Amino acid sequence: MPRQVDQAAAVAVMLAAGLRPLEPRPASGANRGWRCHCERCGNEVAPHFSTVRAGVASRGPEYSGCRFCAAVERGRRQKEGMARKAETLMRKYGWVPLTPYPGALERWPCRCGVCGGDVEVTFAKVQDRGQDRCGPCSQTAKSMRLLAEQAGRAAVDLVAAGWEPLADYPGVHRGWKALHGVCGQIRYPLLSEIRAGEVCCSGCNGSVRLGDEEAAEFMRSAGFKPLEPYPGSQVPWRSQCLR
Ligand SMILES: [Zn+2]
Ligand SMILES: [Zn+2]
Ligand SMILES: [Zn+2]
Repeated sequence: MPRQVDQAAAVAVMLAAGLRPLEPRPASGANRGWRCHCERCGNEVAPHFSTVRAGVASRGPEYSGCRFCAAVERGRRQKEGMARKAETLMRKYGWVPLTPYPGALERWPCRCGVCGGDVEVTFAKVQDRGQDRCGPCSQTAKSMRLLAEQAGRAAVDLVAAGWEPLADYPGVHRGWKALHGVCGQIRYPLLSEIRAGEVCCSGCNGSVRLGDEEAAEFMRSAGFKPLEPYPGSQVPWRSQCLR
């Protein structure tokens, strides 16, 4: 009975693809699918036997002859590929994802590679702007950039008021470690007060006045060439930077 052997072999192929036939295999000339029950999702489907046989032959147990399951599987693989790409890109921009990829527009907990802070970002934004640090961290970076830009001008003003800076410029409202050339003491004057013309050496209260030559020498040692006579320690002194 060759027909029956064919039938058993054909059923085995369908079972290998996760399908349980609901009827005998349609005659080869019938030009219609074979009604089956998908063992995985429970849907009824009717694929052509030749298609299923080719799928099982090329992909083995991974292959599902059910179009519903195949679509789900395709989606899953696509999402996996997307997640891998997303994580790679995040790392490239310095982020360490703390959970699996949630989708491009969802909030994604990540660690900022610059400051180590944990924040939520969205993949779409990182991809869009190439954002490489968290909000607080870019605020800090911005203010540090600003400080660096202002530092030169700040040092000129500090020196012109008779001080030698002993630390990096901390900002206009924070004490700046400096040596007061007039009294020789280390204090923390505020540039805001110096610029306002206030006496802000708590060591001498501005009562000591440097000799003109002494003051000029101090300016030169700090890298400035005075362009006018010493006007006193509380008044800006027009000078040329020698650096
Ligand atoms: Zn299925
Ligand atoms: Zn940060
Ligand atoms: Zn002083």
